Amino acid sequence: MFLTLSLFVFIFGTIVGSFLNVVALRYNTGLSFARGRSQCFSCGKGLSWRELIPVLSYIVLGGKCKKCKSKISVQYLLVELVTGALFLATFIHVGANTFFAGSSVSVSAFTFVSLATIIYYFFIWSILIVISVYDFRHKIIPDSLVFLFAGITLIASLVGFFYFHSNTLLDILAGPILALPFWFLWAVSRGRWIGLGDAKLALGIGFMLGFVGGVSAVVLAFWIGAGVSIGFIVGQRLLSLSSKNLTMKSEISFGPFLILGTVITFFFSFDVMGLSAIFGF
Ligand SMILES: [Zn+2]
Repeated sequence: MFLTLSLFVFIFGTIVGSFLNVVALRYNTGLSFARGRSQCFSCGKGLSWRELIPVLSYIVLGGKCKKCKSKISVQYLLVELVTGALFLATFIHVGANTFFAGSSVSVSAFTFVSLATIIYYFFIWSILIVISVYDFRHKIIPDSLVFLFAGITLIASLVGFFYFHSNTLLDILAGPILALPFWFLWAVSRGRWIGLGDAKLALGIGFMLGFVGGVSAVVLAFWIGAGVSIGFIVGQRLLSLSSKNLTMKSEISFGPFLILGTVITFFFSFDVMGLSAIFGF
């Protein structure tokens, strides 16, 4: 039962992921999302249902269009796999505290709250995945998506505070507290170091994870970002790549690192420098 449900959740995640691919690609282009990835971008060949199965189609076709053999971006496969994995991990993570009794699933304990929580996080991950892909491709975070993220997480934070008493006032204020340093960096550098989108993203991350989790996610994002940047520089020195590639590193967007920090903090309860102990939460 547990394995069947898990497999179902993962497959559902990959199907949502293939839709998110289309959303991320067609966002702000005026093209309809509803028609989906129904044709090849190079030759315009219509895709049959067999070429639209998440993950499997990409692997079977070797990442190439069946007709014109043009390469299909690995982004499709990655987004499908990541969405599937995040949905599955959320299902297990949230479910572990509520409706799994040992290795068997107790359906009777499957409460409305746990179901609503899982759907809430599915929605949040979906928004964050589209933001990541969009920021990675275009080096900008769309306002509508990041405000949707901050709005939903603010409501959830307020519901947690007033109804479930599951967070503190500091957790609600964590959004603006986290956004402020990013806004400051943006203002001081006039948008050269970071974009204002990162401040808006940090606002939502604070609402979503609370104070301790939010600070941990941001610190983690800086660590990973610094690690990747150093890796890039060392890699370029070793391979002595062209000057064209050297400019790439200054254009690395920070949004995906913030989101990666959020994912790790969420699933592993990452708590940088034992902040909980210091503040006595
Ligand atoms: Zn083609």
